[in-house]
Amino acid sequence: MIVCKFGGSSVQNPSQIKKVCNIVKSDSERKVVVVSAPGRDEKHHQKITDHLLNLATKGYHFEEHKIDVSQKQSYNAIIKKYEDLCKDLGVEEEIILYSLKQDLEKCPLTGDKKVAYFVSRGEHYNAKIICEYMKKEGLNIELCLPEEVGFILSDTYLNGKVLPQTYENIKNHFTFEDEKLYIVPGFYGITASGDIAVMSRGGSDLTGGELAYALDADRYENWTDTNGVYEVDPRVIPSANVIPRLTFKELRLLSSKGFNVFHFNAMLNCKKSKIPINIKNTNNPEHDGTLILSERVPMEDLVGIAKLENMASIHIQKDMLGEEIGFSAELLKIFGEFGINTYHYPTDKDDIAILVEQEDLKGKINNLRRQIEKRLKTDNLFVTYNLSIITLVGIGLKENSFAIVDAITALKEKNISFEMFDMSPSKISFHIGVSQAISDIALEILHEKMLNNTGG
Ligand code: ASP
Repeated sequence: MIVCKFGGSSVQNPSQIKKVCNIVKSDSERKVVVVSAPGRDEKHHQKITDHLLNLATKGYHFEEHKIDVSQKQSYNAIIKKYEDLCKDLGVEEEIILYSLKQDLEKCPLTGDKKVAYFVSRGEHYNAKIICEYMKKEGLNIELCLPEEVGFILSDTYLNGKVLPQTYENIKNHFTFEDEKLYIVPGFYGITASGDIAVMSRGGSDLTGGELAYALDADRYENWTDTNGVYEVDPRVIPSANVIPRLTFKELRLLSSKGFNVFHFNAMLNCKKSKIPINIKNTNNPEHDGTLILSERVPMEDLVGIAKLENMASIHIQKDMLGEEIGFSAELLKIFGEFGINTYHYPTDKDDIAILVEQEDLKGKINNLRRQIEKRLKTDNLFVTYNLSIITLVGIGLKENSFAIVDAITALKEKNISFEMFDMSPSKISFHIGVSQAISDIALEILHEKMLNNTGG
């Protein structure tokens, strides 16, 4: 049994929804379909979820992101989107549009409850329309709303967490009688007190992951608009291959900010139950995509190379710091107090560097420096901006850490110097810090030397 989730780009307009219907029809094992709200398309430059957020926050959402779209424009865009979907898919529009308008115009809620309710409408009405369309196309499919299924979330309305009774509720609700399929709107659930709550952005991945886990699916398919996970960023290296198989751990190590193929929390329960996740492309369903597994036999040392940009290094010097018990703990505590996430900490007897996202230092660096100097009586503190961290990942590296020699040699041959080097304790990833100005070239060199021959 397969649970398949279709993201915003897969359900953004009628022609995409037709593709989704064909995909569902083409494999009778696809029994549970989770859908997002419509994403952005050629006519609508914003996602429906963002328009709904804009409406619920009286225009603040787009204003905050410096996007010039008023509350009224958002309202019109939402209504138009669902009107077009109904028309083009031949779905009876009157009741759907009437109740959507009622929901948006007559909502008695306030604060976060109102925002959660509004944004949930994106998935809610999309699932209704897609269900009607699929029925018309001959599928024996039933709409399962999270509030009916008992998809229970904590009452943190805009960042709801799935509560344990949800799993039992799902098992009881989905009986699969009469060869039936089910369609579920993603992203939202209901609190114990009966209010609508949503999970974090991209939360339909979580709905799919939780359903796959609760129903002990054989596979969780995550349909999107890319062929899978690439061995390196294809925007930098267009010839990059899709990685056919990788482990959850490898995917996590390869991911960096900006990588948004998949919501990580959705993996946790699938990983626990060893349910493979298949990332697939709605626009190219023949492609095998990427299979994310709990284990795999490594055929190669390296599976991919990630690059994290806009990093800064805070290098601290103090004589004898290596002997000062609690120094690093206090240092990390200070970063924590400033709400700054710390990445790597290369260290030596009298030196330590902390790598952070430079964005996180904005407006904080002077105070941070003062606190560090005052509390730790440091000798020097240097900040270097515009660094990139290149991370080489592969479970095969554990058995062959010499592979890293090839990487360093390749950089040396092209005279690319590096600022930092670090091996993870699990020995399956290596981090090389380079100046951002040469990071694309470094990535090309490493890709050419380490991955180009393997065909991914
Ligand atoms: N529609 C929601 C969002 O844009 C959830 C999702 O698409 O997964 O974040």
